[in-house]
Amino acid sequence: MRLSILSVWGFLLLISVNLICISSASTDYYSILGVSRSATTKEIKKRYKVLAKKYHPDKNPDDKEVEEKFVKISHAYEVLVDDEKRDIYDRYGEEGLKGENQPFHNPFDIFAQFFGGSGHFGHQKTERRGPNMAVDLEVDLKELYLGTKFDVDVSKQVICEHCGGSGAKNPDDVVKCSACDGRGAKYVKQVMGSNIFQIQTTCDVCGGKGKIVKTKCPHCQGKKVRRGSEQLTVNIEKGMAEGEQIIFEKEGDESPDIIPGNIVLTLKTIPHPAFTRKGDNLYTKETVTLLEALTGFEINITHLDDRTVTIRRDKVTSPGFVEVITGEGMPRHKSKNQYGNLYVEFTVSFPTFLDEEVKTGLKKLFLKQDTASTDTGSTDAGRHYEL
Ligand SMILES: [Zn+2]
Ligand SMILES: [Zn+2]
Repeated sequence: MRLSILSVWGFLLLISVNLICISSASTDYYSILGVSRSATTKEIKKRYKVLAKKYHPDKNPDDKEVEEKFVKISHAYEVLVDDEKRDIYDRYGEEGLKGENQPFHNPFDIFAQFFGGSGHFGHQKTERRGPNMAVDLEVDLKELYLGTKFDVDVSKQVICEHCGGSGAKNPDDVVKCSACDGRGAKYVKQVMGSNIFQIQTTCDVCGGKGKIVKTKCPHCQGKKVRRGSEQLTVNIEKGMAEGEQIIFEKEGDESPDIIPGNIVLTLKTIPHPAFTRKGDNLYTKETVTLLEALTGFEINITHLDDRTVTIRRDKVTSPGFVEVITGEGMPRHKSKNQYGNLYVEFTVSFPTFLDEEVKTGLKKLFLKQDTASTDTGSTDAGRHYEL
């Protein structure tokens, strides 16, 4: 109890957050994060990231309530993301955690584990930034037509939740390097000819960090990071284009002391059996019989949203004829209720054989029609489109 109050006061001084009281009432970490008691680590991380961004004091200057909320979110996250702490909390409540040496880290450090830098917004220009991660995301035409939302798991490097990226079993396992006295550099003598020089080199014991880890974190073996995955909620908007990129800022590989790069999802359309897309227009092909081509027909096309689009023709349809149906193409991205066109190209299936009787009959009929209406020809043969 004493230690936790001390560390809380130390922290208050450090970040100048003036919390007036430290409530002794039990705190429900699950409801602070808005997750169920059976929430997975992934869900907890996801919620933390959303809430920590929303309630970050940098985004809400001089709002004490928000600051308090930011601290609470950070504490709830730290407990629930750690299997051991969560187990203690589930069994003994908040009281059970008070025996821990240093139960909570600085909330800005927790924030920095996810978003890099110093844990603040807009102070990260000089810091190293990790590479972007490019991932292809396959979607089908129906999803692009209707728009949809789904979760994807992206495999990436994450900061070890147990040690928070320090690589140490406990916070007090990080100690000053005695070889360089915490300076990170050592002076060594070097003899060149008859001269002796004293040169400064990086301390080989601590690798220039000035600190060493006494006992390594058993969860990451002191590596500070581990393989993990990130669940991203992808929002496919109606009419998004092939090759369009959806960017998740700072969600790339995590590593201590660097700002994660972005995860860049690039949309790849899975070919559709019936429809092809060019820009906002859709193209499809239909086959009619020779009789239908000559005398007219009615056909039903099932659209991407399972609606039936009916085409009725009583004119002659020559092979390659294209019917244009305005407004039945793809939705125009970011423009409400605007659609491209649907182009339906017709193929005519010819009979492979006609018996003599049919031939004679046809000849008679065609001769009759030719003499009757030579110049009223009303085919659409001239209406061809570049497909
Ligand atoms: Zn670790
Ligand atoms: Zn050293």
